[in-house]
Amino acid sequence: MPLSEPQEVLAPADGVCRDSRLRGAGLGHGFTTRVWGDMRYARHRQAALAKVGAPELDARILRQVHGNRTAVLRCGDESGLPTQGDGWLTDRPGAVIGVVVADCLPIWIWERSGKAAGVFHAGWRGLDADLPGLAVAEFARTFGVKPKDLAAWVGPHAGACCYQVGPEVAQRFPREIQHLRGGKIYLDLGADARRRLVAAGLSTDAVAVSSDCTICRPSLYYSFRREGGRGPRCGQMLAFLWLGAS
Ligand SMILES: [Zn+2]
Repeated sequence: MPLSEPQEVLAPADGVCRDSRLRGAGLGHGFTTRVWGDMRYARHRQAALAKVGAPELDARILRQVHGNRTAVLRCGDESGLPTQGDGWLTDRPGAVIGVVVADCLPIWIWERSGKAAGVFHAGWRGLDADLPGLAVAEFARTFGVKPKDLAAWVGPHAGACCYQVGPEVAQRFPREIQHLRGGKIYLDLGADARRRLVAAGLSTDAVAVSSDCTICRPSLYYSFRREGGRGPRCGQMLAFLWLGAS
């Protein structure tokens, strides 16, 4: 299936960011901005999902552990699903899956015709554990989908403009991911996700990485870094997905 150009829609009127390629594959999806409030609360998730016409009231959310485990939601039986992990894959139309993030990377990966898709959460630990590569391998193992038939969108996240780390974290990443400014090290996590998705077999032009930084744009996004992880201004965004959107 030919892949259309990525067309990121950031800061739209309904307060939900998107990549038009997902819609082209019949995938309902989005990334809530802070217009919708803190997505750790079910009532906020429900309001945003109702607004975008989601087929279920709420998104299934895992307890996220900053690792590389994913849950697989198949057609049929839902018993035995894990309660924790850092992302989902599904082939079940109408099931709404989500991850919550604030600075970490929201990553959507989908089979180009929309027969299977997933949404994942990765910070530096998830990237270091190669969550993107393992997610791609899981598409092949569970659904028989080849990496060349997958596309990916890495949504707004803490950018290389702001994401400063210490040398103990930086040394886990290749030099080209590290940016040195004023004696400090900043990581380009989006570039690392792109590198890992391409290494896992996605074609370069199938991977789009948002240039929006969650730390730089307080009017749009919550940021764990900027807000120190606590206080009334803290919150998380929801990255969500479902198959079979009209
Ligand atoms: Zn920034």
